[in-house]
Amino acid sequence: MNELKASPAAVFAHRHLLGIEGLQAEEITALLDLAEEAVEVSRQVEKKKAVLRGRTQINLFFESSTRTQSSFELAGKRLGADVMNMSVASSSVKKGETLIDTAITLNAMNPDILVVRHHAAGAVHLLAQKVGCSVINAGDGAHEHPTQALLDALTIRRHKGPIHDLTVAICGDILHSRVARSNIMLLNALGARVRCIGPSTLLPKGLDRLGVEIFTDMRAGLTDADIVMMLRLQRERMDGSFVPSVREYFHFFGLDAEKLSFAKPGALVMHPGPMNRGVEIDSAIADGPQSLIREQVEMGVAVRMAVLEALAQNLPNG
Ligand code: ASP
Repeated sequence: MNELKASPAAVFAHRHLLGIEGLQAEEITALLDLAEEAVEVSRQVEKKKAVLRGRTQINLFFESSTRTQSSFELAGKRLGADVMNMSVASSSVKKGETLIDTAITLNAMNPDILVVRHHAAGAVHLLAQKVGCSVINAGDGAHEHPTQALLDALTIRRHKGPIHDLTVAICGDILHSRVARSNIMLLNALGARVRCIGPSTLLPKGLDRLGVEIFTDMRAGLTDADIVMMLRLQRERMDGSFVPSVREYFHFFGLDAEKLSFAKPGALVMHPGPMNRGVEIDSAIADGPQSLIREQVEMGVAVRMAVLEALAQNLPNG
């Protein structure tokens, strides 16, 4: 007997996407399956679907962004939404308006989806309680960046098949990284083995409770890894000195050919961008045959289309 397969969007029954925390493996997989379809749409000459036709999407960015904001914009437009970008530089937040006032003002314009980036962890959750539309977290402080983890998983899955049982090494500034937190939760939910590698000053307290193996030596941590995920040294989030010097950091924790040779043959290298070449990654590796960095950008648009589409099904009249 033929089993009826639920549509991926039907499996994701949430109003907001605020984080990976709390999502079930099947919900994550449903979003990734939907994103595969979005990859196909994005590779066609006519890159359009109509699932968000008539809907309004506002991208509200309190922190600067190039790829995340532009890919949310493209994703919304490919799905037919009216997309408005609002960045803090041109907003009245500069004039002293609070986050909540801004949100309530925008809410009065009846958007259907708000995509929000904010420098404070938890700000996006707070905002989601005050507005009537769907909210997507596009990065809140050092807390979560769910669409980054989803696009990373999509990229990995397209190259290595099921994520279950892969060994993924996340390297560098774990302490300040929302990308690391979201990835740790997603990869654990899908059954990967997750390692975190970094200097002890950049490993957060309680990291061991997140179900990861911890290393302070790159060569030991990279041994037999299938995926090497590098992180940017987030100097804008550091108060005080966490690394003696950039030169020394590269020497011990920068990914170069010699350190990469400890990973499995054919291991793949990722970086969420923006990259500091010569700080956390050698240019030859970033541009080399094992790098998936450019593909991650393409997958970013597809994953954001999938998330928008899934949430759109749950909007009133969706
Ligand atoms: N673009 C990513 C983020 O917004 C990574 C980074 O900035 O280093 O968190």
